[in-house]
Amino acid sequence: MFLGIDWGGTYIKAGITDNRGNLLSRRVFFSSRFKNKDAFIKKIEELTNSVRPRRINAVGIGVPGIIDTKGGFIYYLPNIPGWQKYPIRKVLEKKLNIPVAVDNDANVFALAEARIGAAKGTNRAIFLTLGTGLGGAVIIDGNIFKGRTSAGELGHVPVSLKGARCGCGGTGCIETFLGNKYLVSLYKRIKRQKNLNAEVKDIFKNALEGEEEAILVWENFSYALGMFLSGMINVFNPEKIIFGGGVSGAFKVFKPLVWKVIENQAMWPHIKTLKLIKAKLKNAGIIGAAILAKEQLANG
Ligand SMILES: [Zn+2]
Repeated sequence: MFLGIDWGGTYIKAGITDNRGNLLSRRVFFSSRFKNKDAFIKKIEELTNSVRPRRINAVGIGVPGIIDTKGGFIYYLPNIPGWQKYPIRKVLEKKLNIPVAVDNDANVFALAEARIGAAKGTNRAIFLTLGTGLGGAVIIDGNIFKGRTSAGELGHVPVSLKGARCGCGGTGCIETFLGNKYLVSLYKRIKRQKNLNAEVKDIFKNALEGEEEAILVWENFSYALGMFLSGMINVFNPEKIIFGGGVSGAFKVFKPLVWKVIENQAMWPHIKTLKLIKAKLKNAGIIGAAILAKEQLANG
């Protein structure tokens, strides 16, 4: 059995899986419950021991930030302070006495979808997690492209020379045109209602009902996403692009719009058999983390 941990800014989801990635049990905690590193590490210890007398073989963690996958340490987490340069793998392995694997949360999501989800059997795929930010991962020859530390930060490709400041420290990243906060603020601007109480799911619902302002938000979103993806398609020549994360709930609305932009922008031989697909797995974060643990254990 493997313990997979999907560590997010709002929730920490933990689950135990079998050898094939089937989820056997699942627990959800508010991230805010863990005021410091010690409390978080202690909870992982507790979860690892919770299956006794049976045994967890290895632990995998999807981390919401910039990490060194080989060294197993966190450089920094953009949305969670206090974790700079933290050797999380070393600390946990010492406490648990079993192997621990860590990777970026988008890579972990991609791993689950690549092994048992929407991209199973695909050699080259691009993965996006659309939510507060834009997570990305790239699969090349069936493996996640990791770079020297952790590559695949697609959300931080600059697309505007005069763009807004981004959470990564740069400016003009594609993330600043696609994140859910941006969509809500655009919607309020278009509707000229500063204090409107709306979420992305409302903009989705209203677009389905034909509201002009909501449709305009998705057209803007799709133009930015389509142009960006056309660049990624020309660079990576993928077979599939998989969309996950909260905003992908609106896939039905934005897919045809994005496809139209791609058809006009990307190199035509690259898109002849290209497919845009919504992610398949419900708990990709947990399952991917468990698969990461399993594969690292197998590969030493
Ligand atoms: Zn950025």
